[in-house]
Amino acid sequence: MLFETLATTGHEEVVFCHNKEAGLKAIIAIHNSVLGPALGGLRMWPYRSEQEAVADVLRLSRGMTYKNAVAGLNLGGGKAVIIGDPAKDKSEALFRAFGRFVESLNGRYITAEDVGIDVNDMEWVFRETSFVTGVHQVHGGSGDPSPFTAYGTLQGLMAALNARFGDEEVGRFSYAVQGAGHVGMEFIKLLREQGAKVYVTDINKDLVDRAVDEHGCIAVGLDEIYDVDADVYSPCALGGTVNEQTLPRLKCKVICGAANNQLADDAIGDEVTRRGIYYAPDYAVNAGGVMNISLEIDGYNRERAMRMMRTIYHNVSRIFEIARRDNIPTYKAADRMAEERIAAIGRLRLPHLGVPAPSFHGRRGS
Ligand code: NAD
Repeated sequence: MLFETLATTGHEEVVFCHNKEAGLKAIIAIHNSVLGPALGGLRMWPYRSEQEAVADVLRLSRGMTYKNAVAGLNLGGGKAVIIGDPAKDKSEALFRAFGRFVESLNGRYITAEDVGIDVNDMEWVFRETSFVTGVHQVHGGSGDPSPFTAYGTLQGLMAALNARFGDEEVGRFSYAVQGAGHVGMEFIKLLREQGAKVYVTDINKDLVDRAVDEHGCIAVGLDEIYDVDADVYSPCALGGTVNEQTLPRLKCKVICGAANNQLADDAIGDEVTRRGIYYAPDYAVNAGGVMNISLEIDGYNRERAMRMMRTIYHNVSRIFEIARRDNIPTYKAADRMAEERIAAIGRLRLPHLGVPAPSFHGRRGS
């Protein structure tokens, strides 16, 4: 049954990790390693069943293949999940046991933080393996990715504005930003620095007040954000906010934000295109976080990180070109761009050409 699923999803390797004493039940999934070692976060979640955990790790690891490929990284897609409650089940032994499994894969999977995991957990993982990113800055970690993600989102936005209006002057347009959290607040700041008109909402009133007082935004209600007359709708909070209920209300010409999984489903993505709205695919726009941690692999450097964020402009522009070339919605064009890159680089690595796949030897200096 599982092999049948893997035949459809195209996964290369799925590792079930068990350590009774440490209470570890984890699954590591390597989806595709054509571009390089599989990088993707570790999630800890109280899954109701093992099937649910398997489905999640397969879905998330596949997503990382596409995200890393579109980001232009020499990395494949992978993900890991620990079945457990992050509020109750964490221990040194648990994370060290997990780290030993990561180490046993000899660099084919590189782990990172995801939902339910923090930098302290990663410190335990790091005791057992160097195939880890997102550790504390004292170990060469890259720190909070949010400002980078926000800057990358700005690059994606400029590409989308250029595609839609032939004008990427951010300050000439108006924005409805949903969520003024870690990424949203930084993004708002960047928009306001360029003189843009910014409407903002958040369930946390203090954050809205800050956006208004410190950055001069216009506060709107949680539901009102879908009705404001703004050129760009920028989801920076939750997924699924572009859906059957909200889409008919949106007056924007462009959708571009940092949130993951913005489209409720593919049909909505098709409808967005039909309505002439330019959607900048979320996983291309918000790749700043993964780009940042990817740089930890050969020694983190802030300047290289900022330079890398700017490539998001070209990635998103390329997606709009593919959408135009093939007459498809941008969410499909992003997938196509990833698949084309994996196929092209995969061909270069054919053994008869004598070009080996890149390898990863652990954190430099560790
Ligand atoms: P965050 O938790 O700091 O911010 C999210 C904000 O959204 C919070 O302030 C929260 O109060 C608000 N919010 C929640 N529900 C809301 C609602 N219904 N209406 C309005 N506001 C609501 O998270 P973040 O790190 O800023 O990430 C934001 C989004 O970007 C998430 O979807 C995340 O997965 C994605 N993302 C973040 C990064 C990163 O570097 N942090 C990287 C890639 C993707």
